[in-house]
Amino acid sequence: MDIFEMKGQRVKPGDSAVISFRIARLPTHTQIDLPVYIFRGAEAGPVLLLTAGLHGNEINGIEIVRKMISEGSVKPSRGTVVAIPIVNIYGFLQSERYLPDGKDLNRSFPGNQTGSLAQRVAWVLMNEIIPKIDFGIDFHTGGASLSNFPQIRCDFEYGLNLDLAKMFAPPFIMNSAMINKSLRRAAHRIGKHIVVYEGGESLRFDDFAISEGVSGTLRMMKALQMIDDAPQPAFRPKILSATTWIRARYAGIFHTLIQPGDILKRNQLIGTITDPFGETTYPIKTREGGHVICLNNMPVLNAGDAIAHIGKEKQTASAQHSLKT
Ligand SMILES: [Zn+2]
Repeated sequence: MDIFEMKGQRVKPGDSAVISFRIARLPTHTQIDLPVYIFRGAEAGPVLLLTAGLHGNEINGIEIVRKMISEGSVKPSRGTVVAIPIVNIYGFLQSERYLPDGKDLNRSFPGNQTGSLAQRVAWVLMNEIIPKIDFGIDFHTGGASLSNFPQIRCDFEYGLNLDLAKMFAPPFIMNSAMINKSLRRAAHRIGKHIVVYEGGESLRFDDFAISEGVSGTLRMMKALQMIDDAPQPAFRPKILSATTWIRARYAGIFHTLIQPGDILKRNQLIGTITDPFGETTYPIKTREGGHVICLNNMPVLNAGDAIAHIGKEKQTASAQHSLKT
């Protein structure tokens, strides 16, 4: 595989290129293009896709890919990196998760060439880009005010995905079934392996999540023999086979006593909900122990709102996963 070709443009070993895909025009005639960056190593190797900003307000992933391009660490010695720092250009411009058609791009795969905007973007990815790759990392963050501790999400049913997650070596590796109409699932259906990285929250830089995202990507590239050196992992990855949410039983002001990444015990006091007038205070306790993989930073809660996402490690020896692809 000496020549890597995309949209009729040939990129030779050792070369780099930016290839733009036309998506559609804004109502003001402005053309919206999807820029795709290609970085080729001098020698043969796998093709790794880095996608960020499928949700336009999830800027930590955008920053991870931007930083790797800017520092030059994205360029492999062997193989090819295809980097798309902002997949949902429309959402990014509006600081929004969705596209102007109101659709979630990560629920719009495999897409449609003549559909509404989200379907068109998905179609370009599935027809022009995904067929050219072997592996991928799709960078995301928690939703508004929900801060994810750095984690890779993958479906443990498919051993190769768990292997990729272990190469990345984030603090947490979480079993996560493939969501219908997501990029991960659509790619899996044509034999491509994409894992999802989650770190921090939307519209807020999280330096730790960004540096873990960069170093984990480099570790995966090293394990795939695309580069020779990568930072050592700061953590022994904890493999979480099950997760649960702690939700608010009452509306009120939330004060937390915990942080993302903390280890909780059974019946641990993790915070309080008070009414805003200082009359009543309700304690929030855990039922079971586990790791805090996501924490709500919103001080005002309604009943049922998410407070914390708790992950549990498998107690038995980790299961043997066949190399099912
Ligand atoms: Zn997302």
